[in-house]
Amino acid sequence: MNSLEAIRALPKVELHVHVLGSIRPSTLLDIIIEDDIKVAYKTEQDIINRFQYTDFANFISVYMEIIKCIKDGKHFETITYEMLENCASCNTQYVELSFSPMDHIKQGIEFVTIVNAINKGIKRAHKEFGILTNIRVDLVRDSAMEEAMNILRSIKANSHNIVSIDIGGNESAHSPKPFAPVYKCAREMGLHLVAHAGEAAGPKSIWDAIRYLNVERIGHGVTAQEDPNLMEYLKRERIAIEMCPVSNLRTGVISSMRNHPIRDFFDRGLFVNVNSDDPSLFHTDLNNEYIQLHKHLDFTLPELFQISLNGVDAAFVNLQRKTQLRTLFIREYDRILELMTRY
Ligand SMILES: [Zn+2]
Repeated sequence: MNSLEAIRALPKVELHVHVLGSIRPSTLLDIIIEDDIKVAYKTEQDIINRFQYTDFANFISVYMEIIKCIKDGKHFETITYEMLENCASCNTQYVELSFSPMDHIKQGIEFVTIVNAINKGIKRAHKEFGILTNIRVDLVRDSAMEEAMNILRSIKANSHNIVSIDIGGNESAHSPKPFAPVYKCAREMGLHLVAHAGEAAGPKSIWDAIRYLNVERIGHGVTAQEDPNLMEYLKRERIAIEMCPVSNLRTGVISSMRNHPIRDFFDRGLFVNVNSDDPSLFHTDLNNEYIQLHKHLDFTLPELFQISLNGVDAAFVNLQRKTQLRTLFIREYDRILELMTRY
């Protein structure tokens, strides 16, 4: 077994991945044809070509185009199942997938319809690949606080497999502060708390997510590197950073993979894990993310395994499940090391 095969074989955890950003171009085309959606895409290649971005704002506009193609909640079963099939092909053993109900409710789909369809996809994938999956609900910064409160009410009524809330959307234009009551309420409901921050805005955005939302994890966190005090704080408080390197490259947050701050974060002992964010939209998967770190930032196999274990430690599962995953991961890693010495 060579080093690239070993990286692919590593057991992995995916904590930051959006369901809609995982849609296969072929599936999107099937949906467009089946539901007679009026869009400019005529072929699978048209869709693949559309998944290129000039900057973060351009990426968001493409993302919104895809949202408008989904008018029936039942499609989430297929999208989820196929997404988890892709995850399983990277030996991903545990997934926390995100969906953004506000965007779909605007398209006339009910919250409960999406959650039920996603759970059907999860169940099928678990049966076939043994993959464990929880759901996180992504709220949109640009929307009103009352809308977010309505989503919490929907979660209360249909909470199956939902473990956390998150906040995404236009980070540079919207402070997380108005969402403080939503996060407080979610915490009281027993939900975990995450925020996208430090991706399209500076370190203040991360401080605000910590200060106003009390988050346990930060999605992206790239710009924390600009603030040594924040780096120290993230390390000391062991706040998990869900880094998504290829996503940052594709949306222009970083200029090249060599410049991604994950190497610095890792070397300083920050609690980082690696994720694919919107794998289909960014032409990536978790295997590719790990390989990019190995090729461009000299991450060794033991370091990449540490990143996998960080994912286990940061997962929103109970201690028993965490211990099971850790034991499984260590066993698989030992087997990989043995195979590497044998051939
Ligand atoms: Zn994201």
